[in-house]
Amino acid sequence: MKIAIFGAGQLAMMMIEESSKLNHDFILVDPSQNPPAGKHTKHLQTNYTDQKTLDYITANYDVATIDFENVDISAMKYLEKKIKVFPPSQALEVCQDRLLEKNLFRKLNIQVTKYKEIKSISDLKNYCQGNESRYLLKSRRFGYDGKNQLKCDSNIDLLEKLLSECSCIIEEIVDFSTEVSLVCARQDDNNIVFFPLIENFHKNGILRYSKFPYIDKELQDTAEKYGKELLNYFKYVGVLVIEFFISKDGKLVANEMAPRVHNSGHWSIEGSSMSQFELHVRAITGNLDNKPINFKPSLMFNILSKYPDDHTLSSLESHYFHSYDKEERNLRKLGHITITKKSNKQLVSILPEYLKLLDT
Ligand code: AMP
Repeated sequence: MKIAIFGAGQLAMMMIEESSKLNHDFILVDPSQNPPAGKHTKHLQTNYTDQKTLDYITANYDVATIDFENVDISAMKYLEKKIKVFPPSQALEVCQDRLLEKNLFRKLNIQVTKYKEIKSISDLKNYCQGNESRYLLKSRRFGYDGKNQLKCDSNIDLLEKLLSECSCIIEEIVDFSTEVSLVCARQDDNNIVFFPLIENFHKNGILRYSKFPYIDKELQDTAEKYGKELLNYFKYVGVLVIEFFISKDGKLVANEMAPRVHNSGHWSIEGSSMSQFELHVRAITGNLDNKPINFKPSLMFNILSKYPDDHTLSSLESHYFHSYDKEERNLRKLGHITITKKSNKQLVSILPEYLKLLDT
């Protein structure tokens, strides 16, 4: 099939790499110069709303998908009138806005932390009632990797600035024991796939490493129930990832969802018989074959800011290194390392060595 990907970063790059055996014809739309996926296929360096580009895509391609969620919704709706757009624009619209997203979670009885839309410092003070340290102020839109969020006991000028620049919500801080994510995919009502839960470790809002699997039958069942609600609600097609906290009293609390393949699923390239990338491409092309998927215990470390030198890499025991060939920049995701083992126990024993060397 002919597939257009909006966004040409590392996620698009791995989608193309991981589905090479399926013989699809990809094109990329992305305004940046030399994006990571550009080395694999044709790249149209234009804005996502460029009318000529949209018309070219609808005239020549069967399906459009994304590698990041902040694409222009009107462009996606335009495409949707003429070709398939997976995931649907309605899902993108909800995922772009934390308020809509949390409202939907609540509507579908998916547990979330306390939250409210906030327009001013006096709204914020009224809501916190002197307990500012227990709340976060987050922008409704364009907030990812901890961007555009502040603790409510931060300097008042910073809070004022965020409130003046963006529409915001306030959220109670969850006292969590750990964080997990669910990778799921839907092709149609008869083809829905769930991966076992993945455990995720963040620092300053950025994912540092993931450990697979996180085994808890009850939480897995709850996560899958939530996943199914969301997939069915949108008549979703493709991979959807939901991020959760596990509260200290053992409850699953949804934080947010990503309407795309996700950083916490990168280990699946080596740790699964079908990676999240292949799963997505198969789902959007109607090619999920119901074959059982096998998994291996895996660890995935993000490489941030600076590439490790050869000496560091060679001193680490057997691993898979993925470089996104990006320029080094503070806290930029430049690549990742995956290690697979036969048992969880073996993974746990190598964790300290990696954490130390990769300064995670
Ligand atoms: P987000 O930008 O919402 O994806 O958040 C990034 C990370 O910040 C999460 O994975 C958590 O580690 C932390 N975080 C965000 N919101 C909360 C919250 N309400 N309570 C506790 N930690 C949070």
